[in-house]
Formats: sequence, C-alpha cells, structure tokens
Amino acid sequence: MDPSQWIDVTTEKNHYSLDHFVIPTHYEQDVSSILIPHGVIMDRVNKLARLIVDDATGPLVVCCILKGGHQYFADLVNAVKKLTNKDGKTIPLSLEFIRVKSYKNDKSEGVTMSITDEECKEFEGKNLLIVEDIIDTGATMVQLLKKLGTYSPKSVKVTSLLIKKTPRSNGYIPDYVGFSIPDEFVVGYALDYNEYFRDLDHICVISEHGKQAYAV
Ligand code: 5GP
Repeated sequence: MDPSQWIDVTTEKNHYSLDHFVIPTHYEQDVSSILIPHGVIMDRVNKLARLIVDDATGPLVVCCILKGGHQYFADLVNAVKKLTNKDGKTIPLSLEFIRVKSYKNDKSEGVTMSITDEECKEFEGKNLLIVEDIIDTGATMVQLLKKLGTYSPKSVKVTSLLIKKTPRSNGYIPDYVGFSIPDEFVVGYALDYNEYFRDLDHICVISEHGKQAYAV
C-alpha cells in the first residue's frame, strides 16, 4: 500500500473536541482530544479488510499482537470473514495470538514472543498476516519479522491500524495501514497507557492529567 493511501490525521485540524462525541465519564479529564472517532475506525477497518482479501492468494494465519492489537484484530477478522475474493471465494482463516515484548541492551535489540518454538514451527509454508495496533519507531516489527522469517513461512504481510509520523522511525512501513498519526501518545480502541484506556472506543490523545493520573 502506497503511503498516499493512508488516511493522514497528523494535523491539528483533524482533532475533534471532546464535546462532539461521547467519552466515558471516568476519562473526561484524561484525554485532550479525539483523533479518530470509533465509527471512522470501523469504516476504515472494512476497507483494509477489502484490500487484504483482494490480495489473498490462499488461507491466512492471522496473528494478533497482544495486547494492543486485539480490538483491531477482532474487528478486522470479522470483516474479512464476510468478504469474498474476485473468484467469489471466502478466505480460510486460522487465528494465532502472540504477546510480544521488545528489549534493548548494549549489544542487541530483539523481541521475545509468548508462543513456543514448537508453535512457531507451524508457520512453515503458511501465509501469515500480522495484525498490530501501532508502528512507532518500527523497531519491534523489524525484530519480530526477523524472528518469524526463521520459521520459513510462505509469506508474511503486516497490517497496522496506525503509523506514527516520527523522526525516530527506522523507515519500516507495513503492507496495510489505516491512519498516519502525529507524534503524540494515543490511547483507546485497545491502546493503553499502563493498562488504562483499553475500555475507550475512540482513539484519543492522552492529556497531561491522564498521564499523571495513571502514572506508575
Ligand atoms: P515501536 O517498536 O514501533 O517503537 O513500538 C511499538 C509498540 O510501542 C506498539 O506496539 C505499542 O505497544 C507501543 N506504542 C508506541 N506508541 C504508542 C502510543 O502512542 N500509544 C500506545 N498506547 N502505545 C504505543
């Protein structure tokens, strides 16, 4: 997918006031603006599902990157299930859930995955679709793809609902992107701040009050 096809919500004029939509009362002071209302997310997920099905050449192993990716994964899988490809055929799906932790030290950068070596061996010869919530620097995804590549899948494609426009980016670009967002910390639609805000439907910019209220 060419970056010109991403929905660009990086400028101030894209932010909605909190008065325009319903926000749970327990978060009213904790977000400063609504960046992407839930309805727009759902409409965009339908389009991403359409693009994925159009490109699919066979069964897909859809891999949810936990925890932040779970809402996008659930809505995307629901949308893909309802669609047929150009030959009128539905796409067989199997689902995998991977908790990924990135780590850094002086000598190496890498990721640990919650699934075992044995489980990863099942990926050999399969078409993988990785479903992620957000690409920030790109470091986690680059390392994850390196690791998954060692299990010889037939193909690996990545979809991320969000990509952050940041000078810290390593240049990595997923195959399917929903929205490019400003270099701000966003929450909602399963994206968390110290485990809070996963129960907020819209994607919002966290406020200073929110950062302080839920700091650990
Ligand atoms: P990267 O390795 O691309 O720098 O970071 C990827 C991970 O950082 C994401 O999967 C996500 O867990 C976390 N992350 C980066 N930016 C944000 C953000 O704005 N909001 C939230 N909730 N998580 C973020």
